[in-house]
Amino acid sequence: MEIDMTQGYSYPFIEQDRMEGEAIEALKASSQQSIPDADRWLDEELKRNIVLTSIDSVISWARRSSLWPAICFPACCAFELIAANASRFDLSRFGMEILRASPRQADLMITAGTLTWKMAPQVKRIYEQMAEPKWVIAMGACGISGGIFRSSYNVVPGYNRLIPVDVYVPGCPPRPEALLYGIEMLRNKMSKSSTIVI
Ligand code: SF4
Repeated sequence: MEIDMTQGYSYPFIEQDRMEGEAIEALKASSQQSIPDADRWLDEELKRNIVLTSIDSVISWARRSSLWPAICFPACCAFELIAANASRFDLSRFGMEILRASPRQADLMITAGTLTWKMAPQVKRIYEQMAEPKWVIAMGACGISGGIFRSSYNVVPGYNRLIPVDVYVPGCPPRPEALLYGIEMLRNKMSKSSTIVI
């Protein structure tokens, strides 16, 4: 059969082609836009949730945030330590509100009180049984040098004669604020310590 092109039979096809062409061009135009970065959300997550640091820093942060003092308070400075541990001064902010009756669960000794030679072997043994790494704060004049009892025949003239002391907190007795300052000094010292040995 012969088609009479003048009757417009071809027109719908041409129009269809044109419409198809327009649709394809529109699709092309919309498909040329840049594809959103699939990982952009990941970048945001990384920015908010990842911190680059060293293993030493993390270990040191964990240790200085969970100091557990051993119970070893032979004399009157202990009352200021007890006050420091109460709600007003709040030692728990350093993770150290739990005073440990077992030296094996403690890594800090706060020497709150006069030490006699008779008690010295027990204090030394408590220190030796504490977990490594361990630290000592000599609290009060008696803990530092024997204080007002220094000349007495039966008083140890400072805990550092028996065990290594990291921080000295002077006073008779030191106020809780002074003890907190000493603890902060110890925490600074701990932040500079290195765990990884190469
Ligand atoms: S320093 Fe003063 S308060 Fe502390 S144990 Fe010695 S005498 Fe007592």
